[in-house]
Amino acid sequence: MSKSQQSIPVITIDGPTGSGKGTVSRLTAERLGWHLLDSGAIYRVFALASLEKHIATDDEHALARLAGKLEIEFVPGPTGDSLVLLGGRDVTDAIRQEKVGSQASRVSQYREVRQALLECQRAFQRFPGLIADGRDMGTVIFPDAELKIFLSATAEERAKRRYQQLISKGIAADYNEILQDLLERDHRDQSRPVAPLKPAKDAELIDNTNISIEQAVQKVIDLAHQRHLVG
Ligand code: C5P
Repeated sequence: MSKSQQSIPVITIDGPTGSGKGTVSRLTAERLGWHLLDSGAIYRVFALASLEKHIATDDEHALARLAGKLEIEFVPGPTGDSLVLLGGRDVTDAIRQEKVGSQASRVSQYREVRQALLECQRAFQRFPGLIADGRDMGTVIFPDAELKIFLSATAEERAKRRYQQLISKGIAADYNEILQDLLERDHRDQSRPVAPLKPAKDAELIDNTNISIEQAVQKVIDLAHQRHLVG
């Protein structure tokens, strides 16, 4: 990391799948006018590429080689949202499929893979500040972040939200299957030996089960003010 990067503030927002951290991170970045790192999207693009190349989920070296040459880009789309490109191809929707998320939690467990994707994540730290959304943002990628948040909610609430999200998009969904997949994904993310999902020692814990997204965003912004990260 360069010297000038060190002075750019970072707020990390980690948490389990479906905790709402993606939305909270995006809205907080918009409110503050800061950059956003959606690290899950990076792992999802990598997972999609591994599926397309038919690389076995236990072939760590082949996966690490693929991660090392992953051609990923985030570009502004016509509606202002950012588009995710893999080798120049728009994969914004393709990476949101359940099977890609599930594959991501399998292929992201390897040290070599995570190492290969590390610098590409740190490069997002740009002026005037960064909201970094993921699993290991506060523990591994930005251990010196000025503010670290760990956002959680019960598994049932998270499954309910995911179910409603899919139904509202007209995608067929089964609540019990979603809950099962989510519990398995939590287990894989929390028990992997490398960069497991856990709150950083100095993280602020926010339980998002019974509060609205707006309230969660406000809590993050209040904490950012308390730490003098924003004027
Ligand atoms: O956050 P999202 O559901 O998009 O992430 C998909 C998967 O990518 C997670 O289940 C997790 O296994 C992996 N991931 C990770 N480290 C991150 C972000 C995501 O291992 N920083």
